[in-house]
Amino acid sequence: MNPRPLVAGNWKMNGLKAAFAELSAIRDAVSQFPKENVDFAICPPATLVSAAADMTRGTRLKIGGQDCHTKISGAHTGDISAAMLADAGAAYVILGHSERRADHHESDALVRAKAEAAIRAGLVAVVCVGETKDQRVAGDTLKVVEAQVDGSLPPGATADNLVIAYEPVWAIGTGLTPTAADVAEVHAFIRAQLKRLVPDAADGVRILYGGSVKPANAAELMAVANVNGALIGGASLKCDDFIRIAAAYK
Ligand code: PEP
Repeated sequence: MNPRPLVAGNWKMNGLKAAFAELSAIRDAVSQFPKENVDFAICPPATLVSAAADMTRGTRLKIGGQDCHTKISGAHTGDISAAMLADAGAAYVILGHSERRADHHESDALVRAKAEAAIRAGLVAVVCVGETKDQRVAGDTLKVVEAQVDGSLPPGATADNLVIAYEPVWAIGTGLTPTAADVAEVHAFIRAQLKRLVPDAADGVRILYGGSVKPANAAELMAVANVNGALIGGASLKCDDFIRIAAAYK
């Protein structure tokens, strides 16, 4: 059986309190979504997580963070722990996004430690992997993705606490996407790797595609084998776009 799809939005560093109007529109639209077995999440900036979780409690729309620390608490000014996100009502946390890997020099080992912390706190860890343009041009995509999955996968990963997001760095925010065949190749590769690393969980772990997913390309990308949902950046900021992307699963 295919894993239950997850359509998740990454708001990045976008969203003031005024964005709650869009969030409530997404919450209401998602509640009307005709198919039961599709999961939805929005990951707003940390400042909005608690209120967003309050607004969506008991609905089909879950809330996630965009990063967490490896520790539960302590002298780490400016950081947020997985326990804090869970306490605020989050269900998911995005980890190892390419923007964090680049801006904050996050290594695979750090992403793995964060994913472990997230799982310990009861969150679903959405671990992002993906190659840069240079790495793709050099023919290193699978090698890069393999090393990232290998290095970032937390111990104790199950289909319930781990999601992988394949996000080619060059496709994020650029309007460019890989071909369906390229996406199929990488997702099948990750699935095979999961079968080696976590054989019991491998078939159930959701592997999302992310990178310039839009209403116009969602149906094609979501139909690719081993694509179990989308991680959506820019297009998740507008209810209409988010729901038109989710319509790939109607
Ligand atoms: C992302 O940042 O996770 C992402 C997929 O962004 P976009 O959809 O804007 O390319």
